[in-house]
Amino acid sequence: MADRYAVIGHPVAHSKSPWIHAQFARATGEDLEYGSIDASPGEFALAVERFRAQGGKGLNVTLPFKEEAFQLCAQTSARAAAARAVNTLVLDRERPYGDNTDGVGLVRDLCENRGRRLAGAQVLLLGAGGAAQGVLGALVQQAPACVVVANRTPARAQALAARWPGTEACGFDALAGRRFDLLVNATSAGLAGELPPLPAGLFAPGSLAYDMVYGRDTEFLAMARAAGAQAADGLGMLVEQAAESFLVWRGVRPETRAVLAALRAG
Ligand code: NAP
Repeated sequence: MADRYAVIGHPVAHSKSPWIHAQFARATGEDLEYGSIDASPGEFALAVERFRAQGGKGLNVTLPFKEEAFQLCAQTSARAAAARAVNTLVLDRERPYGDNTDGVGLVRDLCENRGRRLAGAQVLLLGAGGAAQGVLGALVQQAPACVVVANRTPARAQALAARWPGTEACGFDALAGRRFDLLVNATSAGLAGELPPLPAGLFAPGSLAYDMVYGRDTEFLAMARAAGAQAADGLGMLVEQAAESFLVWRGVRPETRAVLAALRAG
Protein backbone atom coordinates (compact mmCIF):
# COMPACT_ATOMS: atom_id res chain seq x y z
CA MET A 1 0.00 0.00 0.00
CA ALA A 2 1.23 3.51 -0.83
CA ASP A 3 2.43 5.70 2.07
CA ARG A 4 -0.17 8.29 3.02
CA TYR A 5 0.33 12.04 3.44
CA ALA A 6 -2.06 15.02 3.46
CA VAL A 7 -2.41 18.74 3.98
CA ILE A 8 -4.47 19.77 6.99
CA GLY A 9 -6.08 23.20 7.41
CA HIS A 10 -9.36 25.08 7.50
CA PRO A 11 -10.45 25.77 4.83
CA VAL A 12 -8.32 23.46 2.67
CA ALA A 13 -10.39 22.66 -0.43
CA HIS A 14 -8.49 25.30 -2.45
CA SER A 15 -5.06 23.79 -1.63
CA LYS A 16 -2.72 23.01 -4.51
CA SER A 17 -0.55 20.78 -2.28
CA PRO A 18 -2.20 17.44 -3.29
CA TRP A 19 -1.54 18.19 -6.96
CA ILE A 20 2.03 19.39 -6.30
CA HIS A 21 2.94 16.30 -4.24
CA ALA A 22 1.37 13.99 -6.81
CA GLN A 23 3.73 15.52 -9.42
CA PHE A 24 6.72 15.14 -7.08
CA ALA A 25 5.81 11.49 -6.38
CA ARG A 26 5.53 10.72 -10.09
CA ALA A 27 8.80 12.45 -10.95
CA THR A 28 10.79 10.76 -8.16
CA GLY A 29 9.09 7.34 -8.36
CA GLU A 30 8.11 7.53 -4.68
CA ASP A 31 5.08 5.37 -3.82
CA LEU A 32 2.78 7.70 -1.92
CA GLU A 33 -0.67 9.23 -1.97
CA TYR A 34 -1.45 12.72 -0.73
CA GLY A 35 -4.90 13.98 0.27
CA SER A 36 -6.43 16.86 2.21
CA ILE A 37 -8.08 17.12 5.63
CA ASP A 38 -10.39 19.97 6.60
CA ALA A 39 -10.23 20.10 10.40
CA SER A 40 -12.65 22.23 12.39
CA PRO A 41 -10.98 24.70 14.76
CA GLY A 42 -10.70 22.89 18.10
CA GLU A 43 -10.32 19.49 16.43
CA PHE A 44 -6.81 19.81 15.01
CA ALA A 45 -5.06 17.48 17.49
CA LEU A 46 -7.82 14.90 17.15
CA ALA A 47 -7.65 14.98 13.35
CA VAL A 48 -3.85 14.53 13.42
CA GLU A 49 -4.12 11.58 15.82
CA ARG A 50 -6.85 9.96 13.71
CA PHE A 51 -4.72 10.26 10.56
CA ARG A 52 -1.70 8.85 12.39
CA ALA A 53 -3.75 5.96 13.80
CA GLN A 54 -4.81 5.13 10.24
CA GLY A 55 -1.16 4.86 9.22
CA GLY A 56 -0.66 8.42 7.92
CA LYS A 57 3.07 9.18 7.66
CA GLY A 58 3.12 12.95 7.43
CA LEU A 59 1.10 16.15 7.17
CA ASN A 60 1.56 19.61 5.78
CA VAL A 61 -0.07 22.12 8.11
CA THR A 62 -1.65 25.30 6.81
CA LEU A 63 -3.82 28.13 8.16
CA PRO A 64 -4.85 28.35 10.98
CA PHE A 65 -2.98 25.47 12.67
CA LYS A 66 0.78 26.10 12.34
CA GLU A 67 1.23 27.31 15.91
CA GLU A 68 -0.99 24.53 17.30
CA ALA A 69 1.07 22.02 15.34
CA PHE A 70 4.20 23.37 17.03
CA GLN A 71 2.60 22.84 20.46
CA LEU A 72 1.69 19.28 19.50
CA CYS A 73 5.23 18.18 18.67
CA ALA A 74 7.41 16.30 21.11
CA GLN A 75 10.45 17.32 19.06
CA THR A 76 11.08 19.87 16.30
CA SER A 77 13.84 20.98 13.93
CA ALA A 78 15.87 24.03 14.94
CA ARG A 79 14.13 26.13 12.27
CA ALA A 80 10.66 25.16 13.55
CA ALA A 81 11.74 25.87 17.12
CA ALA A 82 12.97 29.32 16.05
CA ALA A 83 9.74 30.02 14.16
CA ARG A 84 7.57 28.52 16.92
CA ALA A 85 5.41 27.28 14.05
CA VAL A 86 5.27 23.95 12.20
CA ASN A 87 4.14 23.39 8.60
CA THR A 88 5.50 19.83 8.24
CA LEU A 89 4.62 16.98 10.60
CA VAL A 90 6.48 13.67 10.52
CA LEU A 91 4.21 11.02 12.01
CA ASP A 92 6.07 7.73 11.43
CA ARG A 93 8.01 8.07 14.69
CA GLU A 94 7.00 7.26 18.24
CA ARG A 95 5.97 10.90 18.85
CA PRO A 96 5.12 13.61 16.25
CA TYR A 97 8.13 15.55 14.92
CA GLY A 98 7.71 19.06 13.47
CA ASP A 99 9.62 21.06 10.89
CA ASN A 100 9.06 24.38 9.15
CA THR A 101 9.90 24.63 5.45
CA ASP A 102 8.31 28.04 4.72
CA GLY A 103 11.53 30.02 5.25
CA VAL A 104 13.72 27.86 3.04
CA GLY A 105 10.88 27.80 0.48
CA LEU A 106 10.81 31.60 0.29
CA VAL A 107 14.60 31.95 0.15
CA ARG A 108 14.94 29.32 -2.59
CA ASP A 109 12.28 31.05 -4.67
CA LEU A 110 13.97 34.43 -4.22
CA CYS A 111 17.57 33.32 -4.72
CA GLU A 112 17.41 30.32 -7.05
CA ASN A 113 14.26 30.87 -9.11
CA ARG A 114 14.53 34.66 -9.25
CA GLY A 115 18.29 35.15 -8.99
CA ARG A 116 18.09 37.65 -6.13
CA ARG A 117 20.98 38.19 -3.74
CA LEU A 118 19.84 39.01 -0.21
CA ALA A 119 23.25 39.65 1.36
CA GLY A 120 23.55 43.39 1.99
CA ALA A 121 19.93 44.08 0.96
CA GLN A 122 17.48 46.32 2.83
CA VAL A 123 14.57 43.98 3.59
CA LEU A 124 11.05 44.80 4.73
CA LEU A 125 8.80 42.03 6.07
CA LEU A 126 5.14 43.02 6.32
CA GLY A 127 3.09 41.01 8.83
CA ALA A 128 3.80 39.17 12.07
CA GLY A 129 1.53 36.13 11.82
CA GLY A 130 2.44 32.50 11.22
CA ALA A 131 3.89 33.13 7.75
CA ALA A 132 6.14 35.99 8.91
CA GLN A 133 7.30 33.90 11.89
CA GLY A 134 8.16 31.05 9.54
CA VAL A 135 10.37 33.09 7.21
CA LEU A 136 12.11 35.71 9.37
CA GLY A 137 14.92 33.40 10.50
CA ALA A 138 15.67 32.28 6.95
CA LEU A 139 15.80 35.91 5.75
CA VAL A 140 18.15 36.92 8.59
CA GLN A 141 20.47 34.00 7.73
CA GLN A 142 21.05 35.51 4.28
CA ALA A 143 22.95 38.42 5.95
CA PRO A 144 20.86 41.34 4.67
CA ALA A 145 21.95 44.88 5.65
CA CYS A 146 18.73 45.25 7.63
CA VAL A 147 15.39 43.55 8.21
CA VAL A 148 12.42 45.63 9.35
CA VAL A 149 9.27 43.83 10.49
CA ALA A 150 6.18 46.05 10.13
CA ASN A 151 2.71 45.01 11.19
CA ARG A 152 -0.79 46.48 11.58
CA THR A 153 -0.52 45.59 15.27
CA PRO A 154 3.00 46.91 16.04
CA ALA A 155 3.25 44.99 19.33
CA ARG A 156 3.18 41.70 17.39
CA ALA A 157 5.99 42.93 15.12
CA GLN A 158 7.98 43.93 18.21
CA ALA A 159 7.47 40.52 19.82
CA LEU A 160 8.64 38.77 16.64
CA ALA A 161 11.66 41.03 16.00
CA ALA A 162 12.74 40.66 19.63
CA ARG A 163 13.51 37.01 18.86
CA TRP A 164 15.96 37.94 16.08
CA PRO A 165 18.84 40.22 17.17
CA GLY A 166 19.55 43.00 14.67
CA THR A 167 16.02 43.17 13.27
CA GLU A 168 13.77 46.20 13.76
CA ALA A 169 10.01 46.44 14.32
CA CYS A 170 7.40 49.14 13.73
CA GLY A 171 3.91 49.98 12.56
CA PHE A 172 3.26 50.93 8.91
CA ASP A 173 3.34 54.74 9.56
CA ALA A 174 6.90 54.56 10.86
CA LEU A 175 8.12 53.30 7.46
CA ALA A 176 7.78 56.79 5.92
CA GLY A 177 11.06 57.97 4.41
CA ARG A 178 12.63 54.48 4.21
CA ARG A 179 13.49 52.48 1.08
CA PHE A 180 13.89 48.74 0.61
CA ASP A 181 15.39 46.38 -1.98
CA LEU A 182 13.10 43.49 -1.04
CA LEU A 183 9.56 43.92 0.33
CA VAL A 184 7.88 40.68 1.42
CA ASN A 185 4.17 40.89 2.12
CA ALA A 186 3.40 38.15 4.65
CA THR A 187 0.05 39.67 5.63
CA SER A 188 -3.21 38.07 4.53
CA ALA A 189 -4.54 41.48 3.36
CA GLY A 190 -4.41 40.42 -0.31
CA LEU A 191 -6.78 37.53 0.36
CA ALA A 192 -9.46 40.10 1.23
CA GLY A 193 -8.57 42.40 -1.68
CA GLU A 194 -7.00 44.84 0.80
CA LEU A 195 -3.73 46.73 0.90
CA PRO A 196 -1.80 47.42 4.12
CA PRO A 197 -1.75 51.23 4.56
CA LEU A 198 1.85 51.77 3.45
CA PRO A 199 3.50 55.15 2.93
CA ALA A 200 4.66 55.99 -0.62
CA GLY A 201 8.33 55.78 -1.64
CA LEU A 202 9.24 52.42 -0.06
CA PHE A 203 10.52 50.83 -3.28
CA ALA A 204 14.24 51.35 -4.02
CA PRO A 205 15.33 51.27 -7.69
CA GLY A 206 15.48 47.63 -8.85
CA SER A 207 13.51 46.44 -5.84
CA LEU A 208 11.40 43.29 -5.72
CA ALA A 209 7.96 43.16 -4.11
CA TYR A 210 6.97 39.64 -3.11
CA ASP A 211 3.43 38.79 -1.97
CA MET A 212 3.08 35.39 -0.30
CA VAL A 213 -0.51 35.30 -1.48
CA TYR A 214 -0.78 33.52 -4.84
CA GLY A 215 -3.41 32.91 -7.48
CA ARG A 216 -4.48 36.54 -7.64
CA ASP A 217 -2.94 39.88 -8.54
CA THR A 218 -2.97 41.67 -5.18
CA GLU A 219 -3.24 45.40 -4.48
CA PHE A 220 0.25 45.21 -3.01
CA LEU A 221 1.73 43.92 -6.27
CA ALA A 222 -0.21 46.53 -8.26
CA MET A 223 1.21 49.25 -6.00
CA ALA A 224 4.72 47.86 -6.46
CA ARG A 225 4.45 47.79 -10.26
CA ALA A 226 3.09 51.36 -10.30
CA ALA A 227 6.19 52.38 -8.30
CA GLY A 228 8.50 50.70 -10.86
CA ALA A 229 9.35 47.64 -8.75
CA GLN A 230 9.34 44.01 -9.90
CA ALA A 231 6.39 42.02 -8.59
CA ALA A 232 6.23 38.34 -7.63
CA ASP A 233 3.48 36.23 -6.09
CA GLY A 234 3.95 33.37 -3.60
CA LEU A 235 3.45 30.46 -5.99
CA GLY A 236 7.17 29.70 -6.15
CA MET A 237 7.38 29.69 -2.36
CA LEU A 238 4.46 27.28 -2.23
CA VAL A 239 6.20 24.84 -4.56
CA GLU A 240 9.61 25.20 -2.88
CA GLN A 241 8.27 24.69 0.65
CA ALA A 242 6.44 21.60 -0.64
CA ALA A 243 9.68 20.26 -2.15
CA GLU A 244 11.48 20.74 1.16
CA SER A 245 8.67 18.89 3.01
CA PHE A 246 8.97 16.08 0.46
CA LEU A 247 12.71 15.94 1.21
CA VAL A 248 12.04 15.80 4.97
CA TRP A 249 9.60 12.89 4.52
CA ARG A 250 11.20 10.90 1.70
CA GLY A 251 14.90 11.84 1.75
CA VAL A 252 14.80 12.96 -1.89
CA ARG A 253 14.44 16.52 -3.18
CA PRO A 254 12.13 16.74 -6.20
CA GLU A 255 12.79 19.10 -9.11
CA THR A 256 10.48 22.11 -8.87
CA ARG A 257 10.89 23.95 -12.18
CA ALA A 258 8.43 21.92 -14.30
CA VAL A 259 5.84 21.81 -11.51
CA LEU A 260 5.99 25.58 -11.04
CA ALA A 261 5.78 26.15 -14.80
CA ALA A 262 2.72 23.88 -15.05
CA LEU A 263 1.00 25.73 -12.19
CA ARG A 264 1.75 29.08 -13.84
CA ALA A 265 0.35 27.84 -17.13
CA GLY A 266 -2.87 27.08 -15.22
P1 NAP B 1 -2.05 34.94 10.04
O1 NAP B 1 -1.24 34.21 11.06
O2 NAP B 1 -3.52 34.99 10.16
O3 NAP B 1 -1.48 36.47 10.05
C1 NAP B 1 -2.08 37.45 9.26
C2 NAP B 1 -1.20 38.69 9.19
O4 NAP B 1 -1.77 39.59 8.25
C3 NAP B 1 -1.08 39.44 10.50
O5 NAP B 1 0.19 40.04 10.58
C4 NAP B 1 -2.18 40.52 10.36
O6 NAP B 1 -1.95 41.69 11.13
C5 NAP B 1 -2.04 40.85 8.89
N1 NAP B 1 -3.24 41.42 8.26
C6 NAP B 1 -4.40 40.80 8.02
N2 NAP B 1 -5.24 41.62 7.36
C7 NAP B 1 -4.58 42.79 7.18
C8 NAP B 1 -4.93 44.04 6.56
N3 NAP B 1 -6.11 44.24 6.00
N4 NAP B 1 -3.99 45.01 6.54
C9 NAP B 1 -2.78 44.82 7.11
N5 NAP B 1 -2.39 43.67 7.72
C10 NAP B 1 -3.30 42.66 7.75
O7 NAP B 1 -1.74 34.41 8.58
P2 NAP B 1 -0.37 33.76 8.06
O8 NAP B 1 -0.34 32.31 8.34
O9 NAP B 1 0.74 34.60 8.57
O10 NAP B 1 -0.52 33.90 6.47
C11 NAP B 1 -0.40 35.17 5.84
C12 NAP B 1 -0.53 34.99 4.33
O11 NAP B 1 0.57 34.29 3.80
C13 NAP B 1 -1.78 34.19 3.93
O12 NAP B 1 -2.40 34.88 2.86
C14 NAP B 1 -1.23 32.86 3.48
O13 NAP B 1 -2.03 32.27 2.48
C15 NAP B 1 0.13 33.27 2.92
N6 NAP B 1 1.11 32.16 2.94
C16 NAP B 1 1.62 31.75 1.74
C17 NAP B 1 2.56 30.75 1.72
C18 NAP B 1 3.15 30.31 0.40
O14 NAP B 1 3.73 29.21 0.34
N7 NAP B 1 3.06 31.11 -0.64
C19 NAP B 1 3.00 30.13 2.91
C20 NAP B 1 2.46 30.59 4.10
C21 NAP B 1 1.51 31.60 4.11
P3 NAP B 1 -2.39 41.76 12.70
O15 NAP B 1 -1.31 41.08 13.47
O16 NAP B 1 -2.48 43.22 12.96
O17 NAP B 1 -3.72 41.06 12.80
